[in-house]
Amino acid sequence: MQKEKFAKNMQIEFKKVPFNKKNFQIDYNLVKFEGTFCKMSQELAKIEATISGKLNIICSRCGKNIDLDINESIELLVSDGVYTPDNESDIDVIEVYGGSIDFEEILNSELESIQSDYHICDECVNDNQVLEKEF
Ligand SMILES: [Zn+2]
Repeated sequence: MQKEKFAKNMQIEFKKVPFNKKNFQIDYNLVKFEGTFCKMSQELAKIEATISGKLNIICSRCGKNIDLDINESIELLVSDGVYTPDNESDIDVIEVYGGSIDFEEILNSELESIQSDYHICDECVNDNQVLEKEF
């Protein structure tokens, strides 16, 4: 996937992340990534956000390009360095090693995971319905 820079200041140094929740918003193509981030501890930050808008994806059946309406809530932890879980948690953890949080990278990886899900276009949905009736 081609990656372009749409904004310059999408990184924040880990040590500058505040303990109080801070708002952020990033517009990326037709996608809006907005929410809050804050520090949980010296090495751990939490991001609560939504990703909404339209994402261009490819139909898993016929390969046609389609615009998918997305509205995803995400909650994840960002660890400065290797994360060692101290208890069972089902929150996703991203480890960063450069000393800063890159929101663009986080958004990209979330979008990639949405894109890699199974999606089919309307025409293929209708195809499926026809097939189901026939059998
Ligand atoms: Zn299709």
